[in-house]
Amino acid sequence: MEPVAGFTTLDLRSAPLCRLTVRSAVTVKLADDPRVETIPARMFPVKIVGLSRVAPEIVSLEVVTPRNQLLSFLGGQYATLRLKNGTARHYSIAAVEPESRVVTFHIRLVNAGAFSDWLAGAAKVGDLLQMEAPLGRFVFDTRHAERTLMVATGTGIVPIYAMLVALTPVERRQAGPMTLLWGNRVSSDAYLHETLAALGASMDFDYRPIFSQEGTRRRVTSEFPTVPLEGARVYAAGHPQMVVDIRRLALTQGIRPSDLRVDAFTFS
Ligand SMILES: Cc1cc2nc3c(=O)[nH]c(=O)nc-3n(C[C@H](O)[C@H](O)[C@H](O)COP(=O)(O)OP(=O)(O)OC[C@H]3O[C@@H](n4cnc5c(N)ncnc54)[C@H](O)[C@@H]3O)c2cc1C
Repeated sequence: MEPVAGFTTLDLRSAPLCRLTVRSAVTVKLADDPRVETIPARMFPVKIVGLSRVAPEIVSLEVVTPRNQLLSFLGGQYATLRLKNGTARHYSIAAVEPESRVVTFHIRLVNAGAFSDWLAGAAKVGDLLQMEAPLGRFVFDTRHAERTLMVATGTGIVPIYAMLVALTPVERRQAGPMTLLWGNRVSSDAYLHETLAALGASMDFDYRPIFSQEGTRRRVTSEFPTVPLEGARVYAAGHPQMVVDIRRLALTQGIRPSDLRVDAFTFS
């Protein structure tokens, strides 16, 4: 980023913004992505219309927006869902069905989690929530890349899946040869496996599911290429530590910081 008069420019290559400790007032200038500015975030009252388990610990939550209030978003963006008791959590938007106005989220239940406990216990069809969306800048970069690596762990696949299904043929070509690494503990967690295998075949990308507690017990970080990656673009989404590790590996392999897009699922 070019220095701006009167401002200190921080190099965020070694520490993502969400992991910095701020000791005085700061102004942050985000990298520009004009498409994000074209869809301002709005508050929507939403009603639950679907709740189902898609894996032992993953719930698909479907909410509907009011009549005449369709949510527009770019694949990769997220929403903030707020419960009546004020608990608010961020969730990537898996899909929006324009006809029905149904917005889908895929949520992993964590132990003793405020939102998780509500979702697994009290939540029911008909409940009302507040939703603010769309949010975030983790969106597909439409500029040409020599190759593209997408890395996700667990429900970190949600923003990447939403990005992939929205790609136009021209955007797909701009991405060059493409690889998707999806890490899970065991195969029963990989609830989108069939869908991603089919997408990989139809969109011509190399989809590689990776399991840390099954078979050869691998991790996405050990599968990350060890060859120079100049000109490539990397997307990483999911567990915050994985995102930090992938960032480090990508920069070591020569990825420019502007070609690295990350979505860390930081805990509240
Ligand atoms: C931009 C963004 C997008 C996100 N998108 C998704 C998404 O699409 N799907 C999804 O499932 N989650 C997503 N998350 C994570 C989500 O916002 C919550 O952090 C998560 O659901 C836990 O909320 P909770 O209220 O159940 O637990 P909390 O009450 O927040 O936490 C309870 C305890 O669990 C720990 N904890 C929280 N999360 C985890 C975890 N993943 N692994 C291990 N321990 C944990 C906390 O440290 C705490 O000790 C996203 C986060 C961000 C920042």
